[in-house]
Amino acid sequence: MALVDIHTHSNISPDGNDTPEEMASRAAELGVRRFGLTDHLELDRASDEKWDPAAALKHMRPTYEKLHREYDGRINVYFGVEIGQALHDTAAAEHILAENDFDYVIGSIHRTEHYKNINLISDIEHERRRAIAEHYEEMLSLAEWGKFSILAHMTFILRFTGVDTPSGLVTDKTKRSRAVFETHKPVIDKILQTIISKEIALEVNCSGYRHGLGGPMPSAEFIMRYRELGGRLVTVGSDAHRISDVASGISEGCGLLKELGFSEVCVFEKKEPKFIKI
Ligand SMILES: [Zn+2]
Ligand SMILES: [Zn+2]
Repeated sequence: MALVDIHTHSNISPDGNDTPEEMASRAAELGVRRFGLTDHLELDRASDEKWDPAAALKHMRPTYEKLHREYDGRINVYFGVEIGQALHDTAAAEHILAENDFDYVIGSIHRTEHYKNINLISDIEHERRRAIAEHYEEMLSLAEWGKFSILAHMTFILRFTGVDTPSGLVTDKTKRSRAVFETHKPVIDKILQTIISKEIALEVNCSGYRHGLGGPMPSAEFIMRYRELGGRLVTVGSDAHRISDVASGISEGCGLLKELGFSEVCVFEKKEPKFIKI
């Protein structure tokens, strides 16, 4: 099986640890054949100097070109990006997309309008409920806007909060995803239907394995439902922010996809999906 990892971060991202060259070199060492750096542009943090999207963008294209040249014939290197909270500054997002010919854009929700510190959601029932509801409402709006190729880590928020269900609070990290799938089914279905209709891929974010979620983000329930509704575009990524996490969880993620009936994952070249057998 050829390893694919198209969601990774270098130190072009303020929370990334290692240089683009170190990340790519690690990928090559591990036998990753399709590799993409997807450094962060967090549009709700644009005024924060550390997270200035313009500063990151200055490095992205030259970095991609350098790696593409260096690994030509050995690794398919893609020009990717992860745009967080695009709808917190839609004009900026659309300007960035018009000015840059990314192979693909990962669309993410890391924070919401009212929950700017997702890791600080207060441990009060109505706050948990509201944070999760807002997370999926904003994700639905993002999907409806649709100007990206891959919907990232649908259960990201569950790294930071338990889930209230009719039978009580689910705190166990490995059970949160099923609980949220059952309690928020209508909006999750709408999100999945929307990305399917727009030919946006569902990301199987393999960092969930190393963050104690017992599986990828989202979990098997979401992936099965996506398939049941007609979805066929799935991507895999480690979401590594350091060299030691490159390709982490990818084999497990692909194994799960096979169990769920998928025989291929996709990558994007100039926004067109290309299928890779798993
Ligand atoms: Zn992300
Ligand atoms: Zn990421």
